[in-house]
Amino acid sequence: AGPSPDPDAPITLELEGVTRQYAETTAVDDVSLAVREGEFYTFVGPSGCGKTTTLRLIAGFETPTSGTIRFRGEDVTGVPPEDRDVGVVFQNYALFPHMTVAENVAYGLTFADAPGGVPDDVRVDELLELVDLEGMGEREPDQLSGGQQQRVAIARALAPGPDVLLLDEPMSALDAQLRERLRIQVREIQRELGITTIYVTHDQEEALAVSDRVAVMRDGKPEQVAPPRTIYRRPKTRFVAEFIGDNNVFSGTVTSVDDSSDGLVRVDVGLETFTIDVSNRSVEPGDAVSFCIRPEHLELEESGAGEVMRAPNSANSTTASVASAEFLGETTRVHLEWGTRALVARSRDPPTGEVTLVFDPGDVHVLARP
Ligand code: ATP
Repeated sequence: AGPSPDPDAPITLELEGVTRQYAETTAVDDVSLAVREGEFYTFVGPSGCGKTTTLRLIAGFETPTSGTIRFRGEDVTGVPPEDRDVGVVFQNYALFPHMTVAENVAYGLTFADAPGGVPDDVRVDELLELVDLEGMGEREPDQLSGGQQQRVAIARALAPGPDVLLLDEPMSALDAQLRERLRIQVREIQRELGITTIYVTHDQEEALAVSDRVAVMRDGKPEQVAPPRTIYRRPKTRFVAEFIGDNNVFSGTVTSVDDSSDGLVRVDVGLETFTIDVSNRSVEPGDAVSFCIRPEHLELEESGAGEVMRAPNSANSTTASVASAEFLGETTRVHLEWGTRALVARSRDPPTGEVTLVFDPGDVHVLARP
């Protein structure tokens, strides 16, 4: 997703110990975070993890049970949404059906002046150009596709020149192709304006594709906050490892530490003992460790006929059987049975039946917490 904003950029938005309780449910649980100016910051997580409530707290539609929300250092915790300098776009476009596109966008200016004293009609034209809907101002919403309607909603939210743009699942009502196109457009608009953007989605692929940083939410709290690559390659926990993309997580006990080779240890995971690279982590025999390996790092070799190609000495190998395969175009996702466990691999040319699985100790990633 390109370069992150300057790490020294000022903090636009800050949550400090923010909790939102509804009767028995803690929707948002003691959340502290800071979003920098110009950043595209995404909350992702399964249904009910508190993404929408967090966004509504930031927008001011909800008040925290405890904690503080600051915009540019100023406490806005009790400030109503219209005084927060935010533009909000929801899942269902909610355009006014009997107003034209231009009138819908101009509505965004009703309670605020266009930035820079630009006349409203000029501002509306600028915004339609920004969202790639030039010349469509006279249409009514029902004459637009879902993706176009959502871009009108974005233009309307941007009309008063807000400091922060908040987007709650803006693509979820669209089909897969439109979603992919719109997310590229949203990212382009965000970059062009350099506007601090907070995005909510349950779609992990979308989160990785558009964001500077991703907060993976679980039970009302971010479990890990990091740039997409880090979230994918260096998940901190089993939950993040399994929620973001396909992954194989193993838990076991260290049986021996190879003193001659930096970072290599043997881990008994039940069915096998594997050699893994724990890098600079210090572990001792008896320690519990969890590690994961991505499907693309599991090599599959057909076992049975003839001699199995010898894996390099340091590589791990084990046998499994192919349960099913999903053809995905460029590769095939292969579901394997390994003892009582399910594993997932990728292959261009998937074998069937019994297979040998080979992986390199260096391709595993050790989780910070099991
Ligand atoms: P989804 O992706 O399904 O929208 P989410 O991650 O956005 O989920 P929230 O909508 O923030 O989750 O809800 C978090 C938790 O708080 C859920 O258990 C939900 O049932 C509860 N909750 C949210 N709003 C309210 C409310 N107004 N009253 C009571 N409980 C609520």
